[in-house]
Amino acid sequence: MQNEVRQTRGATARPSCPVAVLSYHQTATPPRRGTPVRSLVLPPWRFALQLRTLKLLGWQGLSMRDLEPYLHGEKTGKVFGITLDDGYLNNLENALPVLRELGFTATAFIVSGQVGGTNAWDHPVGAPAVPLMDVDDLRTWLDAGMEIGAHTRNHVNLCATDEVVAREEIAGSKHDLEQLLGIEVRSFCYPYGEHRAEHADMVRQAGYATATAIVSSRTRAGDDLMRLPRISVHLYDKLPSFLARVTTDYEDWRMRQWNTQPTSRGYYLLGGEGPHASAH
Ligand SMILES: [Zn+2]
Repeated sequence: MQNEVRQTRGATARPSCPVAVLSYHQTATPPRRGTPVRSLVLPPWRFALQLRTLKLLGWQGLSMRDLEPYLHGEKTGKVFGITLDDGYLNNLENALPVLRELGFTATAFIVSGQVGGTNAWDHPVGAPAVPLMDVDDLRTWLDAGMEIGAHTRNHVNLCATDEVVAREEIAGSKHDLEQLLGIEVRSFCYPYGEHRAEHADMVRQAGYATATAIVSSRTRAGDDLMRLPRISVHLYDKLPSFLARVTTDYEDWRMRQWNTQPTSRGYYLLGGEGPHASAH
């Protein structure tokens, strides 16, 4: 694993300063306590407070597409990435107005087999069904200057599927969304963050420009563009720690305090919680 990480880093991504890429899920009133994956539902006021504060401090939130020049080291500045996983309709209603108000862009990672559907992959763990954006909603999202990325066809754990299925899920979701919307899909996100080196190769071969995982850190020079780290934002994240996670190396320190698994670069995978506890 560690050798794999070393080998796949280094070729293309050259951000000259660390860049945080945030992972959000839902922006809505959280369900009652004890509901599975509740921690991934952010009240709209908290989402707005986080982004408005960063804006006041001079930071610019960007989609993965708009972040590319910074990841390549062609541009520098106080920027961070905004990604919203799974394509929840509540993000169109609650997150989009805030993004527009601030002049930020963001990437919604869409499960191409569930456009207009629900988070069916969460149902086995008892999570409530939540509507996802349909085609018209996705067009509204695009018309506002936001980006659509791919999140497989069926929200599969790539590490639990065979190579043929994994390749179909990765390349097929890009093809489906491009055909459906008449756009180029440049950004990919691994469901549950789960992937191996061969999946990163499949993503590269499918023609994506970037892919994001869940290693909780800011991205730095030398990171593989097909395995970019992301910082998950949760319901109980307080504003000071949120700001520190985006603008400093606080997240690396924070991860070291957890009983988690070290990687070759000295920061830590979110192990032990299970995929549904931390991120999708
Ligand atoms: Zn997901």
